[in-house]
Amino acid sequence: AIEVRALRKSFGSLEVLTGIDFTVARGEVVCVIGPSGSGKSTLLRCVNRLEEPTSGTILVAGAEVTDPDVDIDKVRRGIGMVFQSFNLFPHLTALQNLTLPQRRVLGRGKEEAARVARERLARVGLTDKESSYPAQLSGGQQQRVAIARALAMDPELMLFDEPTSALDPELVGDVLAVMRSLADEGMTMLVVTHEMSFAREVADRVVFMDGGVIVEEGSPAQVIGDPSHSRTKSFLSRLL
Ligand code: ATP
Ligand code: MG
Repeated sequence: AIEVRALRKSFGSLEVLTGIDFTVARGEVVCVIGPSGSGKSTLLRCVNRLEEPTSGTILVAGAEVTDPDVDIDKVRRGIGMVFQSFNLFPHLTALQNLTLPQRRVLGRGKEEAARVARERLARVGLTDKESSYPAQLSGGQQQRVAIARALAMDPELMLFDEPTSALDPELVGDVLAVMRSLADEGMTMLVVTHEMSFAREVADRVVFMDGGVIVEEGSPAQVIGDPSHSRTKSFLSRLL
């Protein structure tokens, strides 16, 4: 579903990604771990071209994201993205947060958009919150609305950038449970996270990044349980 080849990204003279190659197969869950500043968010943002790659190619569901002539809006429609900050529309209810993009971007009618919105809110356990505004919801609930909003667009794949990092510890579990159920349903997911137990239990593959490169990747048991690289070992030991 995602294919990244020789991806490089610089900001001015700062080289942030210095040659990244990896793939995420359809239905696969890949977790990206690594220290702050290693380029994880930049990598994710290149996938839907929120950042313009300096060189290299990225294919998403067969479309070449890096082709200057690609219909990038069409590509982005297939990619759900969830950020650390929930980015909900503050002046809209949970239900309206889900219906607006469906109507604007997909051109769905009012009834259909509402039907899909209610189904997705139910899926994240928030049926009773459809009339609440973001400020009336906990951080965990807001993040689940953000996930439901992405799902309402029927994405082919989901990108998550530290979706639980801004949450109080007691709210993290509900969000991870939603992500776990998505993974169980076969959603293709690329997840930047510091939640090692999630990565261990849910990821098909773990990618460890440091200094703009992939240092090692493999099964969670390999990369988290028995890392072969000293940089991976020292990163993991600092997390404990
Ligand atoms: P964190 O774990 O803290 O989120 P990260 O691995 O996601 O870190 P990035 O956000 O990808 O790291 O940043 C990688 C490097 O690129 C950092 O040195 C950062 O300062 C730099 N950087 C990111 N975005 C920009 C930008 N728009 N302009 C200039 N430098 C940037
Ligand atoms: Mg980041």
